[in-house]
Order: sequence, then structure tokens, then C-alpha cells
Amino acid sequence: MMMSEIGKTVAVGEGRLLARLRELVEVESPSEDKAAVDRAGALVLGWVEELGGTVKRHRQKGYGDVLELLFGPARSKRGRVLLLGHLDTVWPMGTLATMPWREAEGKIYGPGVVDMKAGVVMALEAIAAVKELGVERPVTLLLVSEEEIGSPVSRGITEKIARECEAVFVMEPAQGLAYKTARKGVGYFELRVQGVGAHSGVDFERGHSAVLEMARLVQTVSGFTDLSKGLTVNAGVIAGGTRSNVVASECVCEVDVRIARASDAAKVERMFRGLKVTDKACTLTVSGGINRPPMERKPGIVKLFRQARGLAAEMGLVLEEAATGGGSDGNFTAGIGVPTLDGMGAVGGGAHAAHEHVVKASLVERTALLAGMIAGV
Ligand SMILES: [Zn+2]
Repeated sequence: MMMSEIGKTVAVGEGRLLARLRELVEVESPSEDKAAVDRAGALVLGWVEELGGTVKRHRQKGYGDVLELLFGPARSKRGRVLLLGHLDTVWPMGTLATMPWREAEGKIYGPGVVDMKAGVVMALEAIAAVKELGVERPVTLLLVSEEEIGSPVSRGITEKIARECEAVFVMEPAQGLAYKTARKGVGYFELRVQGVGAHSGVDFERGHSAVLEMARLVQTVSGFTDLSKGLTVNAGVIAGGTRSNVVASECVCEVDVRIARASDAAKVERMFRGLKVTDKACTLTVSGGINRPPMERKPGIVKLFRQARGLAAEMGLVLEEAATGGGSDGNFTAGIGVPTLDGMGAVGGGAHAAHEHVVKASLVERTALLAGMIAGV
């Protein structure tokens, strides 16, 4: 099958794609609001039904339900491909009032439009196109409900489904025009120091400052940064003490860690667990760990990317690849060794920012490229 044929089929659906994108953007779906995310899910399920998909609902109490949507033949000689997306956004209810759906100069603005409501709609259009073209390939579209807050309940579901698939295509936004072939792993640690409080004028010598101790610890953990390995440590939040004239009895610090190599995970965790206080009257508690493994640019990922680049070239497009420090659910699927290509969603910008937008003209061509990858032409 030729990419031009796929491109034409996808282009016919452009009006539907845009109409659905608007409908989905206008159903707000912040991660914390189960009812809201479920409303977005219900809208999508209507479209899935039209497409003849099978729905497996993974019910959740505290978050929106996770939707596993199956298309194509149940069994096939061809391996199943997983399209991975999320229904939730970072935007609170009511954002539409100040940030409505708006089109200007070839861009479409709105909360969650690029991250990743466009990706969800594109996935359905790509599935519709390959179906129309008679491609026989099993496809799963998995839509999770709480990706923006770290996928606390869907991670296990995602990993289990990915294990049965031969490739994972993540519908997160493109990086510029590029697909993402590497992502850093993400860690979070909390350091908590208990010191001994005292009056700084009357009783200074009896005090053991948690703030001073934390200052030393911040120096130490910041020193774990090794840019040559893509390992960074950011002590991003610190809180301690009550008044300037009190020797602080407590201090807490929240630390973000990024790793480019999976082999650094255990080392970083060891370094954090091994932290020691200098002032022996203080006690330190360390919690947290590496929660997303890095998506490393392994041969299986490179192979998928080369395939995509070839298809893009047939369409007259130059497809680049990029690495990012940000995490996605692609970290989980790549982390268990399933070849994963990320950033296959919309081209645009401003994810999590007020100028969030998609580039309208890119929607059809990116959807066609995705359909080509599903067809495996
Ligand atoms: Zn996203």
C-alpha cells in the first residue's frame, strides 16, 4: 500500500477529526476529577462504537476509568500494536471560560488540545483509515485517566497490555516536528530532617538546626548531578523553620531526579538512601525513588523510527528524532523492553501553558503517518 493512498483516506476524514477534537477539548477533564474524565471517556466511547471497537473498561474509584479499546482481528499473524494515550489534562474545571477553543493563523488553542486530546482523536482516525483500507492488524488503543499526575493506577495496566504487543506508539505531542526516541527516567525523593529547636538568643547552644543540616544535604545531593551521564538532581522545594529567632527543629526538601540510563536507577537510590547527617543530633528520613525508568534509544526503537522516517519521506516530509528529559507512559513500556516510539501525536506547542495549541495543517499528515505505521507498509 502506498502512503499516498493512506494520506487520501485520512484527508477525507479531516472535518470529522476537527469536529471531534473540538468536542473533546470542550469536555474538560482534569486528572483529579473522576466524573469529568469519565465524561471525556464517554464521548470517546461513542466514537469507538461507531468504529466497531471492543471496550474493556478498567474501573477506578479515585480516578477516571481506564479504557482498553480493541480493534481489528482478535488473532492475526501480525503482532498487535498498542496506541497509548491519556484522557486527562492538567487544566482545572472552568479553564475553558478563559481559554476557549479558538482558531487563529493556522493554530487551534484550548486546554489539553495538544496534550493530548488531538492525539486521542488522531489515533481513532488512523484506526478508521487502516480499517477502511482493509488492513488486518490487531490494534489496542489504551486511554488512561491520570497520566498527568504520574499514572498511579494505570501503570500496571499499561505494562500488562504492552507485554502482549510488538510495538507501542505513544500519542504524546511531537517535539517540534520530531518523534521522540528517548526520554529520561524520573525520580522523586523527599528529605526530612528533624533537628532540635531552641531560642536563638537564650538557648542557642542547645539547638540543632534542621535548616542548617538540610542546607548541607542540598549541597550533597546536588553534587550527584553528572551531566555527562544525563543525570540531574534538582532540589526544587524546601521548607523549614518557624521564625528567625528560633533554631529550626524541622526542614523538608523535595528533590526531582532525571536519569538517562536505566543502570543509574539503583545507584541513585543507593546514594539517596546512604545520605548521612553531619550534626549527629539531627535525624534524616529519606523517602521516594525512581518512579519512571528511562526510555533508552535501543535498537527496537531505532528500527521503528527508521520505518517512520521512510514513510514520512514518501509523503515528502523530513522526520527528525529527538530526546527529552520529560517522562510519559512510554517510559513504562520501553522500560519493560517493548519497542516504543513517542511523540506520535499532534504538532504544536505550549503543553501545560496558556498558549497550548496544535498546528492545524499538521493533523492530517501526522495521522496519515501514524496510519502508515499501524499498517506497517
Ligand atoms: Zn501528555
